[in-house]
Amino acid sequence: MGRAEKEPPRPFARPRCMDAPPQHSAGRSGIAAIAGGVLIGAAAIGILWAERAQPLRQPTRPRTRRTLVNLALGAMSMAAVNRIEAPMTQPLARSAERRRRGLVQRLPGPDWLRDAAAVLLMDYTVYLWHVATHRVPFLWRFHLVHHDDLDLDASTAIRFHAVDMAISAPYRAAQVALIGTSPRALQIWQSWFFFSVLFHHGNMRLPERIERILARFVTTPRMHGIHHSAVKEETDSNWSSGFAFWDHLHGTFRLDVPQQAIAIGVPAYRDPDELGFRDSLALPFVVQRDAWTGAMRADDAHK
Ligand SMILES: [Zn+2]
Repeated sequence: MGRAEKEPPRPFARPRCMDAPPQHSAGRSGIAAIAGGVLIGAAAIGILWAERAQPLRQPTRPRTRRTLVNLALGAMSMAAVNRIEAPMTQPLARSAERRRRGLVQRLPGPDWLRDAAAVLLMDYTVYLWHVATHRVPFLWRFHLVHHDDLDLDASTAIRFHAVDMAISAPYRAAQVALIGTSPRALQIWQSWFFFSVLFHHGNMRLPERIERILARFVTTPRMHGIHHSAVKEETDSNWSSGFAFWDHLHGTFRLDVPQQAIAIGVPAYRDPDELGFRDSLALPFVVQRDAWTGAMRADDAHK
């Protein structure tokens, strides 16, 4: 950031830096859906424009091939969300509201307060799920497909393995049921989440002063760039994907690594020929290298 960002890229291992400083009608959730769609459409156009006008990091790979692979993986992921997650979460949200089931449904006060609490709790429990996708070896097999991208931009926001989405569907259903998320709160959270994911994956340079203020509240592009670093201690930070409060609360917030010093991706997968569409679909099911050491993964030793 600032002058420090002009230094040349450093190798992956780096000494620890100093820490920087019940009554929603279908109509209402329908309006929230339309508003969310308009917001996301406008945001996507703005983010794509900003990536061209003011890139944050210099791309290391030709853009077209990467983007096509990411779009293809993204289309499959979205299909998985629509076919698997939505049919599980929507009936649960309707019954949470109708029967007043789940945590926030016990809160006194107006509906909007319950919805706000549900959106916050959905956001926090996604933080926990994100940590799990890195820490639980079985989940990491799939989440690796998102992290092995060698550049980071808005197309990475949809680069997920479809099975990664399918596996997270029961977790999402449990979130909705336990939190008591109403259909409207679910719609607001989904729109917010999708907008935030597009935003913080975006390769766009915001004025540093403004980004530092934003990062107190929401996940920003520089924060998430550090999470996609090929240095493991840096990846193990900035787990938030919506509000940034959770990283501040858990002490996992970092904004102290210059973006130009970051190699995006993981050390064990640097060959673009291994990261195409077919290889990415196969990656969770074949013998994997440990992303950080390059050795064969312990859970693949029997294969
Ligand atoms: Zn991650």
